[in-house]
Amino acid sequence: MEKEYLSNKFKHILHGGDYNPDQWLDVPGIMDKDFALFDLAGINSMSIGIFSWATLEPREGEFDFSMLDELFERAEKTGRYVILATPSGGKPAWMANKYPEINRMCIPGFTIAPGWMVKRSLVPPVRVEHGGRHNHCPTSPIYREKCRIINTKLAERYGNHPMLAFWHVSNEYNTGCECDLCRAAFRDWLKKKYKTLENLNHSWWTPFWSHTYSDWEEIKAVDVSVSSMCVDFQRFCSEQALDFYKAECAPLREISPNIPVTTNFMSGPFHDLDFWKWADEMDVASWDAYPQYHEPATDNRDTAIYFSLHHDLFRSLKGGKPFILMESCPGPTNWGVLNRQLRPGVHRMKSLQAVAHGSDTVCYFQLRKGRGASEKFHGAVIDHAENPNGRMFREIADLSKDLKKIEGVVGCHTPAKVALMYDWNARWALEASAGPTDHCKEYFATVLKHYDYFWSNGIPVDMVGPDSNLDKYSLVITPSLYMVSEELSKRFKEYVANGGTLVATYLTGVVNDTDLVHMGGLPGNMRDLFGIWAEEIDYLYPQEVSKLTATGTNKFKGDFELANVCEVIHAEGASVHATFANGDYYDGMPAVTCNSYGKGKAWYIGAEGKSSDMLISFYEDLTAELGIESCLPNVKLPYGVAAQVREGDGERYVFVINYKSTPAEITLPTEQYDILAEETCSGTVTLPPYCVKCFFTSKK
Ligand SMILES: [Zn+2]
Repeated sequence: MEKEYLSNKFKHILHGGDYNPDQWLDVPGIMDKDFALFDLAGINSMSIGIFSWATLEPREGEFDFSMLDELFERAEKTGRYVILATPSGGKPAWMANKYPEINRMCIPGFTIAPGWMVKRSLVPPVRVEHGGRHNHCPTSPIYREKCRIINTKLAERYGNHPMLAFWHVSNEYNTGCECDLCRAAFRDWLKKKYKTLENLNHSWWTPFWSHTYSDWEEIKAVDVSVSSMCVDFQRFCSEQALDFYKAECAPLREISPNIPVTTNFMSGPFHDLDFWKWADEMDVASWDAYPQYHEPATDNRDTAIYFSLHHDLFRSLKGGKPFILMESCPGPTNWGVLNRQLRPGVHRMKSLQAVAHGSDTVCYFQLRKGRGASEKFHGAVIDHAENPNGRMFREIADLSKDLKKIEGVVGCHTPAKVALMYDWNARWALEASAGPTDHCKEYFATVLKHYDYFWSNGIPVDMVGPDSNLDKYSLVITPSLYMVSEELSKRFKEYVANGGTLVATYLTGVVNDTDLVHMGGLPGNMRDLFGIWAEEIDYLYPQEVSKLTATGTNKFKGDFELANVCEVIHAEGASVHATFANGDYYDGMPAVTCNSYGKGKAWYIGAEGKSSDMLISFYEDLTAELGIESCLPNVKLPYGVAAQVREGDGERYVFVINYKSTPAEITLPTEQYDILAEETCSGTVTLPPYCVKCFFTSKK
């Protein structure tokens, strides 16, 4: 494949971060000092203006761009690229006080969305006062107009500046406003979706507990007893935030159509935005990654897998195009429970991990550490000591040299044959549902368990959403896809009929896209595809262990312990590859099945393994059958060591990373050139703690 560059202006890895000199304007010479230190640290870009509104517009209608002017001048003189933000993430005090409607109304205790849906009760929302950040109303016409004015001025002044690389729209968008404006917009959204109240009442199952609506205006507070309403409100919130983002982008796109636009997402516990829907409106995906690599329990392995999957997700949002790591922490964060110092080498490791998975940048929050307020203890390139001999500063400077060595990786893609589905709708629906049991709420953890095998074996994975094109993948895995629409079930059937291999698990296709249970037995509208009927779902207490016996002849054979969930399955045409062996009433019934459908196969795993052994064995056989290989074939990767590949224009970069605090060994069947160490490796190679190697080959 050809390389695909994020910007035509440069073909190297951006190494920069958030720079906030507006906190230091009363300190003479601060920028001189900072830029001298940027030279020493190898910082070649900066993200600016992110929380600068009070500096740029100190009083309503009075604008002062002198700070940004100076930064752009310095950028041009020193050859640094600028990622320019719009400032809507933080409102000036004059604005929040003069126009109260721009301030979010939310359930007390939940200023932003995570957890609101499952924990809230029917108490009225309250208006937040000025303070904090990320707490505007996305619907407010006044706030939208204020953003339009400032964004237009920014675009007119800097949109065609030669050093402007990307637009950084707002910051870490979130949702959660329930003001009257947002409620009215929600009702409009519902009218557009359902057309009639009869449709809505049916889709929400409102005769339950006398919830039937007879007038659109009766739809007010989000009611957790109506799970369909919760899912729709979550969808609305994501789309309303997207609508706000599009309004913010409009003047930028009009005035500077050639500058790529992005917004930096949060992820992990923050899951209130459906990034698949947002992806079409972004020219490049970006996110803020803060792995806490200091957990003794798993020696970093869990953290490594979790963040690798997220990096893959952000690469996959734009169809495999490289993404921007917009924020990461050079040092400890300040918001964790235990903000431990990064051990020597960890900063390099986690930065190159992002590059290995598709990032063409290593950017930080923050370039200079503030003296006061809530981020004064957050890691930074320039610490309070301002000393270039500091350990972390030197590690950052060394990393910049590594990034130069591998800059050919810029624009490269990841050749994945395996796709793993992650759908926000399914997650929201599971979280909103009362039952079937608490365990099944762990949707993301289930997705992660399937990812684990591929990560551990050097097999690249793309993440896909319900609307993604599946045709190019040999294997598509859809763990616990609780919500499956008619359209999606048809697409799965087409994919398998055309020769694809699909793997689904327990809790698949339980409800339709408005959260109504599919009639006629599980897995809902895909019984013919899987050739089974899952009659019951049995949940186990934490202390209970069940068992299945696999009947394969290679790896997936013999007994495997089960935990948490077992589905009582009848084969209706599918071949049976494992049966329950638990002495319970479904002893001997199918636990893992495979159905031939058209030219392909649809696998169903009806139980959760107690350890990873079951999925490891299952996927070892399946990947062998499908000819899916590691990016480093015939190399056994030890515990906590992973390999990831990027390719483009005949070049191939295989990153091998030891995430552990102890050394590891790999044995190479063929000689490899490590472009980072600039040496040839062969035979048994020792990987010191946190070591990263990058094996480079070229067909040129
Ligand atoms: Zn609102």
